Amino acid sequence: MHQLDKIKTQNLESHQGEGFMVAKLSDAIGLARSNSIWPLPFATSCCGIEFMSTMGPNYDLARFGSERLSFSPRQADLLMVMGTIAKKMGPILRKVYEQMAEPRWVIAVGACASSGGIFDTYSVLQGIDRIIPVDVYVPGCPPRPEQIIDGVIKIQELIKNESIRRRDMPEYKHLLEAYNID
Ligand code: SF4
Repeated sequence: MHQLDKIKTQNLESHQGEGFMVAKLSDAIGLARSNSIWPLPFATSCCGIEFMSTMGPNYDLARFGSERLSFSPRQADLLMVMGTIAKKMGPILRKVYEQMAEPRWVIAVGACASSGGIFDTYSVLQGIDRIIPVDVYVPGCPPRPEQIIDGVIKIQELIKNESIRRRDMPEYKHLLEAYNID
């Protein structure tokens, strides 16, 4: 397929003619970012096993440009939290988030990461959004790989439509301030 046709199929709003195409920089960057996400899998328990399946040949997250996992927060732009997060682990998760460069996004995969799940106890964090902002929640205990892929697609849509100025806007700064994050 011709490169221009490939871009057209991604619904990039643009003006085209013979041998040229003009589009908004923000849209082009959104398109590139959304198809080259580098996830950091923060997997602590069973939901992590579902993610392993999501990476395997049957479900193949590579189809969405996300096969390059990062185990260093400095080279990741999507934090995928999968599993029960004990309160003791909270500061470590937060440190990982803080070490990621902007722009960064977060998915809470499964009931435990989203709300504490079945572990309504003194030792378990009742949802990671108590310590870091979350962009997409994936329900289920455990969520099937299809649901994890759906969460990644939702993140792709968010990224594609996000203004490149969003991270400098007061609303975003207020969001981070609410979490006491610099
Ligand atoms: S949501 Fe269910 S499957 Fe996922 S980590 Fe919690 S208990 Fe395990």
